Amino acid sequence: MHNNPSPVPACDFCGRQGAIAFYDTTEFFVPTKAYDWASGNRFYACPTCRTLVDALDRNGLATYAELGPHGIHGIQVITAFRDHHTPGATTFTPGTHPEHHR
Ligand SMILES: [Zn+2]
Repeated sequence: MHNNPSPVPACDFCGRQGAIAFYDTTEFFVPTKAYDWASGNRFYACPTCRTLVDALDRNGLATYAELGPHGIHGIQVITAFRDHHTPGATTFTPGTHPEHHR
């Protein structure tokens, strides 16, 4: 899911560029009309979405994500994310892509 040409991850909640943190997740799937979307085991977040996640503001997060390119799909992802993530974001330097050590 992170195979776009940019080396910098986009936000997995709202789809906007400029992720600054990530959450570890247990992989889950969100069925769409075309395919089952796979979460992977890491969720990137932009500054706004990270603040909303840490505040447990699901409605605020859904509203913000709905305004982004993921649209309604983002709300399904947020709902599933709530039950599958390890609380507490790991931050990294904006404009870089953190390596995945597993
Ligand atoms: Zn975001």
